[in-house]
Amino acid sequence: MAKTTHIAVIPSPGFSHLVPILEFTKRLVTNHPNFHITCIIPSLGSPPNSSKSYLQTIPPNINSIFLPPINKHDLPQGAYPGVIIQLTVTLSLPSIHQALKSLNSKAPLVALIADSFAFEALDFAKEFNSLSYLYFPSSAMNLSLSLHLVKLDEEVSCEYKDLQEPIKLQGCVPIHGRDLPAPTKMRSNDAYKKFLQRAKSMYFFDGILCNSFLELESGAIKALEEKGHHENGKKISIFPVGPITQKGSSASSNDVDEFECLKWLKNQPQNSVLYVSFGSGGTLSLRQINELAYGLELSDQRFLWVLRAPSDSVSADYFEDANVDPLKFLPKGFLERTKEKGLVLASWAPQVEVLKQSSVGGFLSHCGWNSILESIQEGVPIVAWPLFAEQAMNAVMLSDGLEVAIRLKFEDDEIVEKEKIAKVVKCLMEGEEGKGIRERMKVLKDGAAKALKDDGSSIQTLSYLANQWENFGGI
Ligand code: UDP
Repeated sequence: MAKTTHIAVIPSPGFSHLVPILEFTKRLVTNHPNFHITCIIPSLGSPPNSSKSYLQTIPPNINSIFLPPINKHDLPQGAYPGVIIQLTVTLSLPSIHQALKSLNSKAPLVALIADSFAFEALDFAKEFNSLSYLYFPSSAMNLSLSLHLVKLDEEVSCEYKDLQEPIKLQGCVPIHGRDLPAPTKMRSNDAYKKFLQRAKSMYFFDGILCNSFLELESGAIKALEEKGHHENGKKISIFPVGPITQKGSSASSNDVDEFECLKWLKNQPQNSVLYVSFGSGGTLSLRQINELAYGLELSDQRFLWVLRAPSDSVSADYFEDANVDPLKFLPKGFLERTKEKGLVLASWAPQVEVLKQSSVGGFLSHCGWNSILESIQEGVPIVAWPLFAEQAMNAVMLSDGLEVAIRLKFEDDEIVEKEKIAKVVKCLMEGEEGKGIRERMKVLKDGAAKALKDDGSSIQTLSYLANQWENFGGI
C-alpha cells in the first residue's frame, strides 16, 4: 500500500480566499488518495452565510481544524479587505502554530500550503522540516506584477497612477498605473506596505501554486517560469494548477432545481440572459443601483441581477451579511415593469449553476478572479465593471488582452450612467463585437477543459507536485 503523505493547508478568511484553496485540496485528494490533508482554518468573528455553508461541505476525507475566531473589534475599523484578512491571520498565528505542532507530532508534515494572505504561517515550515508553498488565488499577471512592484518601488517615487507610461510585464498586456490593484493606490498606506511585504516573501517559498492555466496566460506563465525573478540569487517556482473553481452549488441536484432562478433561466431562450453580479461582497451606492436598474431596463435585454443593499464602500458585504432587504432600494415600479424580462435576487445566487445554463449569454461582472474563471469555464462573455482589489487589472487583461470582455470605462467615484450601461450591454448581447467575444470565449473554455484533462497542463503540474511531495525526504 502506498504510504500516506501528510500536508497542512491554511486558507484565509473571506469567501474568495477560503474556497479556492479548499477546492484545490479536494482536487488533490481526489487525484491522489494517498494524501492526508488537514485544513487549519482561521476566521474573523462569525463568517458570512456564504462561508458558513461552504465550510459545511468540506468532505470527510479532508480534516479541518477551526481556529478560535478573531474578534472584529480587535482590527482597525474600515481598513482595506486585504489588510483585515492578513491581520486576522497574523493574530491567528499562535493557534496556527499550535495546530501544526500537534499535527506534526502525530505524523510529519511534508508540506505547508497557505493562501497568499496567510503567507506568514509558512515561516513555520522550517521548524517542521516541511516544504512551503503559497497558494496564489489570482492570475499569473497579478503574480508577475507583485514581483515587479518590489523593484519599481525602489525605482520610482511618484504614485503609480501618475506614471506616464504603462507598465509592461513580460508576456502580459500593458497596464496603466491607475489600473493597478487597489492596495497600491497610495504608497504611504498600510495596505501597500503589506502588499510589498507579501511580494517580497514570495522568493523564499519552495513554490507558488497559481490559480491560472497555460492556455489562458501562456505569456505570463512562461515568462515567470523561464526567467523567474531573481533577488539575491533567489528564483520563484510557479505551478499553474487552475482553473480551480467550485464544482457547483453545495446543494444536491434536487435542491438545485428548487432554486427559483434556475427554473426561470431554464425557460429563457439560449444566450439571451445577462447575469449581473459583483462577487461575494461587492456593493454599489444607491445612485449607482438606480442607474444600473434603468440601464438594464433601457437595454431591453433579459437579466438576472444579484442585488445587495447599497453602500458607499465597494466591499461592504465582504465579511458580513447586511441584514436589509436589498429589493426595496430599486427604483419605484422597476420590478413590475421588468417582470417579463428580468429577475432580481437578494444578495446571493448559485453562480456556478447559473453560468452553466445555456440561456445565460453574458455576465456583467466585477471581475473577481473566481468569477472570471467560472465564466471562462462556461464560455460566457463578460461586461467588466471592476470595483476593488485587483479587479481593474483583471478587466484590462480580459478586454485589451484576451478580448473576451467589454470594459465599462469610468473614473473612481464616477457614477456609470444608464445610457452607457445600456449601450455596452446591448453591444455584448446583440452586437457584432459581442459575437467575436463569444467566439474567443469559446476558445478559452476549450482551453480550460483541456488543462484539466488527465494529460492536461494543470493536472500534470499537480501530479508533478504530488510526486515531489510523496518522495520528499527520499523514502
Ligand atoms: N458567488 C456566488 N454567488 C453570488 C456571488 C458570488 O456563488 O451571488 C461566488 C462566485 O461563484 C465566486 C465567488 O463567490 O466563486 C466570488 O469570487 P470572486 O473572486 O469573483 O470575487 P470576490 O468575492 O473575491 O469579490
